[in-house]
Amino acid sequence: MSRFADIVLPLAQPAYCFALPSGAEGDAVRVGDAVAVQFGPKNIYTGIVWRLHDERPNVKRIKTIGRRLYDRPLLNKQGRRLWEWIADYYMCTIGEVMRVALPSLIKPQGSSAEEFLREEFRPRMETYLSLTAQWRDRDALSGECDRISRRAPRRAEVLRQILSFDSAQCNAAGEVPRRLIDCDSAQIAALRKGGYIEVVEREREVERGANIAFSLPELTPEQQRVAGEVRSTRGVHLLQGVTGSGKTEIYMNLIGEVLAQGGDVLMLVPEIALTSQLIDRMERVFGSRVEAYHSRLTPRRRTETYLRLLHSEGGQLVIGARSALFLPLHHLQLVVVDEEHDSSYKQSDTAPRYQGRDVAIMLASLYGARTVLGSATPSLESYANAQWGKYGYSLLAERYGGAATPHIIISDTMRSVKRGERRTHFNQVLINSISDALSRGEQTMLFQNRRGFAPFVQCRGCGWTPRCPNCNVTLTEHRTSGRMECHYCGYTATVPKSCPQCETVDLKPMGFGTERVEEAISALFPDARVARLDRDTVTSESAYNRIIHAFEAGQTDILVGTQMITKGFDFGRVAVVGVLNADNLLFSPDFRASERAFALMTQVAGRAGRRQSEGVVIVQTSEPENQVIGWVARGDYQAMARAELADRHLFFYPPYARLVQFTLFSSDVQTLRRGVGEFAELLREKFGRRVAGPVAPPVDRIRGEYLLRLLLKIENGRSMARARELLREVIAQMQSKAEFKQIKIVIDVDPQ
Ligand code: ADP
Ligand code: ZN
Ligand code: ZN
Repeated sequence: MSRFADIVLPLAQPAYCFALPSGAEGDAVRVGDAVAVQFGPKNIYTGIVWRLHDERPNVKRIKTIGRRLYDRPLLNKQGRRLWEWIADYYMCTIGEVMRVALPSLIKPQGSSAEEFLREEFRPRMETYLSLTAQWRDRDALSGECDRISRRAPRRAEVLRQILSFDSAQCNAAGEVPRRLIDCDSAQIAALRKGGYIEVVEREREVERGANIAFSLPELTPEQQRVAGEVRSTRGVHLLQGVTGSGKTEIYMNLIGEVLAQGGDVLMLVPEIALTSQLIDRMERVFGSRVEAYHSRLTPRRRTETYLRLLHSEGGQLVIGARSALFLPLHHLQLVVVDEEHDSSYKQSDTAPRYQGRDVAIMLASLYGARTVLGSATPSLESYANAQWGKYGYSLLAERYGGAATPHIIISDTMRSVKRGERRTHFNQVLINSISDALSRGEQTMLFQNRRGFAPFVQCRGCGWTPRCPNCNVTLTEHRTSGRMECHYCGYTATVPKSCPQCETVDLKPMGFGTERVEEAISALFPDARVARLDRDTVTSESAYNRIIHAFEAGQTDILVGTQMITKGFDFGRVAVVGVLNADNLLFSPDFRASERAFALMTQVAGRAGRRQSEGVVIVQTSEPENQVIGWVARGDYQAMARAELADRHLFFYPPYARLVQFTLFSSDVQTLRRGVGEFAELLREKFGRRVAGPVAPPVDRIRGEYLLRLLLKIENGRSMARARELLREVIAQMQSKAEFKQIKIVIDVDPQ
């Protein structure tokens, strides 16, 4: 029997060794178990047993683990291997993976035993009633009811109620939930005393609907061909299909097959695409097999889901955001990653900085499950993998039901201005199209990838612009709140009445965000019903649903929005889609700028004319000759991919190399400069010319800290594992230098 256990704690620290209690209690501990452990002078954490062994660590006193928290391990072998892989690949600790992988209530912690106990998850309890052995016989009880009905009519009536329940309303043990019986506690007590019933407290059972026969629409021959191709791929399959081609229908067919065999399915979608529309569509077919999982659910709900799945026998469909990757789906057979190109699959802000799509592929391979990646505009990484034969590939080029693909018009903003054909933010052709749509009772969507009223304000006298005191960035004006806001740190201030520098009373909003578009379009079309969908109007899930439902129901004529309008819902009547300013998509310093601009505009365009009518998409730009605009106009993904891949190849960017980005932070700019210089030198000793930088990112001060970046490129064919080994050495060297102790180094593997 082992005497020690390495325990992973939800901290940026390695696993710690604890002693096991002696005897049966210690023998019962298994790898993957959650246990309470004391760590530090006072804190009690939930830890995961990672390894059992007999190697006594070289310390004077060793603490003993506390009690086990659940009746079975929270993690199975695949789960543990997934955490280990993430920690190794994304260069963080397993404890940091634990922090994001387990819902908060499942891993209580506290500064005292009482606090820990208070934090601990308790399942909801339910009171159940059952008949005593003596009265199980229905006829006998029925006779008894008649016998006592004169003397104790209420009691007889309650017994009859219990008798009337059939097995579907009872729990697995044939007990009746107390809350379904209409009576008071005195009667229950009396029946119990009379020996008729027993009263028990049990964990509430989630009501699971009966098994339904999945009824799925028949796939078209073209869709069937694709479904067949997916089935014949063993590992990863990339399904490229234009918006409205029926990708979701194909997923549902594949999902149905797996569920029918008792297998589990995980379907990942970008967070903001997780709308009630998608869940409803899935529930209509798969009923209670569907479980949604995302960050807007309460911690209790997420914990209940985790524990329920832990006890599941298979046949579950989880639809979730990237955090759903960590749910215990022990019978996993299929993973679907919808909108696989979406950059929100990457967790960028905190460790583990993982790419959900790539972790999904890893997860599927651990279970020998199949992965389907779906998109109208696949990421070039996935597309290249398909081209190189690493992934299977299918293309659906036509919309379902012969729905027309939208007609795309490129509108030259400069020319419009010259001809006097531009009003505020809209070129004449867009105004005409909106006006036509309104007169036919059809809808319009206007896309602008900036929220707020104006990205900055400027003094007309001296050119002064208000900036964030904590970040190197201008403040965005928001008219609704009447304030200026920093989109990096959340700092806000009121818009000054006059310029603090020259006292001119003329501060002009520059550029435009969704708020300003909303105002301007309402001024142009005063009778139109206009709504806005962005982070400022979507303050809650219900606000989101309200806006979407109003648009769906035709109560809104024009919907203005950011990226949020591009995802996840299916509108029938959108006749016009306007991209108000393509330029700010085209000119970003990122090597993925063209790919992103193409994907975003194509997705926005896909919202037009989805059912009966042909839609029109108007892209306003001052660069009509830009090649990205040309690819969008022709819907030519292949041309975009060819040109971009050639560039990436030339300059060693993904998919021809892997990137590791280092961001160094310090509140002291001098120390930071010296530190980054030192770090760059250490890196170059090992990696030579593969190191680029340091460079300052576009916003080089955030929350009062300066930042500088270095980039490491590891070309394909070189071992990433070896590179990580060398990197760990460099980081350790850096950390050993007292001078740079206060510099924070953030490592981002495969940055987005
Ligand atoms: P995508 O996911 O590629 O955007 P969807 O699966 O949402 O496409 O399909 C677009 C629309 O066409 C949906 O309303 C869907 O119900 C319908 N549709 C697609 N394929 C079929 C089919 N084989 N039978 C009936 N309706 C279909
Ligand atoms: Zn001024
Ligand atoms: Zn700020």
